[in-house]
Amino acid sequence: MDNQGFLKDKVGFATIAIHAGQDPEKWNSAAVVPPIVTSTTFKQPAPAEHTGFEYGRSGNPSRNTLEECLAALDGGSHAVTFASGLATTNTLVALLNKGDHVLSSDDVYGGTNRLFRNVSTRQGIEVSFTDFTDINKVKNAIQDNTKMIWLETPTNPLLKVVDIAAVVKLVKSIRGDILVVVDNTFLTCYLQRPLEFGADIVMYSLTKYMNGHSDVIMGAAIVKDSALNDKLRFLQNAMGAVPSPFDCYLINRSLKTLALRMERHRTSSLAIAKWLQKHPKITEVMHPGLPTHPQYEIAKKQTSGHSGVFSFNHSGGLKESRKFLMSLKVFTLAESLGGYESLAELPLLMTHASVPAEQRAELGITESLVRLSVGLEDTEDLIEDLKQALDASF
Ligand SMILES: *Cc1c(COP(=O)(O)O)cnc(C)c1O
Repeated sequence: MDNQGFLKDKVGFATIAIHAGQDPEKWNSAAVVPPIVTSTTFKQPAPAEHTGFEYGRSGNPSRNTLEECLAALDGGSHAVTFASGLATTNTLVALLNKGDHVLSSDDVYGGTNRLFRNVSTRQGIEVSFTDFTDINKVKNAIQDNTKMIWLETPTNPLLKVVDIAAVVKLVKSIRGDILVVVDNTFLTCYLQRPLEFGADIVMYSLTKYMNGHSDVIMGAAIVKDSALNDKLRFLQNAMGAVPSPFDCYLINRSLKTLALRMERHRTSSLAIAKWLQKHPKITEVMHPGLPTHPQYEIAKKQTSGHSGVFSFNHSGGLKESRKFLMSLKVFTLAESLGGYESLAELPLLMTHASVPAEQRAELGITESLVRLSVGLEDTEDLIEDLKQALDASF
């Protein structure tokens, strides 16, 4: 099956999403839909003997069901879930010791930037940022105390694509013990599977596409290595930022339609990006599915296409951005991304307001940069909405 030069969709993905970890036989009731188990404690047949579960923070049947499905979808062996994407990041940083260094890609999620700069550094972790699309910059930024590489691809909000395999190859040739973490929130395992390119950890804000319904905050880390899983399991329990069984149920349910949703996000966003490219008031469209994207070839090599989130620049300033965003009728002016509903936002004043002004200017997060999250509405209606809002603003 041709996917316009991008990687073929993973064979069996939808089947895994629907069946991995879901066997009815594991429940006494043989329930086909995994139950929500709210019990915080589990009966022990004898003191200090248990039948798989003892206390809800260290393990819960609804959570384990979700974790099994997540691990299978990314081609990992274990998944560990947390109360949010940032709780996941914070727990991953806790794998490190005081004095260790994290090298992060420069345009990461605003909250990740804030956590690294304002929290991790106070706890004695050294953090620096560089442009991961230039492998030489990555090479030069690795220090003797570097223990973790943090990368997001595509980046947020500028949609730069980082060559995961090239970064892994470089990092592992310098020192095998440096962990490579890929924040895969923007694409999901349907479109990109970083473990297959040698990454040690795939990290998600499940809040976005993986859940896809904008009604749960949650995060996960997926690994192949069981020693690493043991460390994360320990931290999940020791630090305690665990998700609720209700939320685990919702994400597990959402994964059943992940393949269908991502297919629609992929086609609709590409059609809209192409339409915007031709609009006279649009100066630049940053979408890795467009042949004009500077890392189009890398995107084709490591993804099965792009999701619904992308950015563009228009020829106006702050006034036009405000007018445009407030004129939209189908798109909702709001932060976040990855839901069934289309959203639009201004990174400068919203998602990336916590990034230092100097770094924002350097990256190109300007008054005219708008980020869209193309949802699952009819593509024609979305284009019509963008058209009327642009007409009203210029
Ligand atoms: C939202 C987001 C996060 C943070 O996740 P929360 O679930 O909001 O804590 C991290 N990375 C990316 C790319 C995100 O979009």
